[in-house]
Amino acid sequence: MITDSELNTLAYACLAMQRKTKVTVAEGAMYAYVEGNCGVCVECGEWTSGGVEPDAEKDKCTVCSKMAVYGAEQALLMGLIELGE
Ligand SMILES: [Zn+2]
Repeated sequence: MITDSELNTLAYACLAMQRKTKVTVAEGAMYAYVEGNCGVCVECGEWTSGGVEPDAEKDKCTVCSKMAVYGAEQALLMGLIELGE
């Protein structure tokens, strides 16, 4: 029997694999993104300049208009962001 949280983890893993571009962020920049309430669009890879809740999911992207913006913290939790140097 698979639990809901296991299902969620699977869904997140699938989502991460399906993404065309991997968003790589330097650790220092990541901190600034979280602090600044920034979000990242998993469709076009653009960062929004703030006003996104850290745990936001599927907000509208101001660049590509897709409902694919995730809060910085949320994106990190979901494995959508890779921390770089
Ligand atoms: Zn976008």
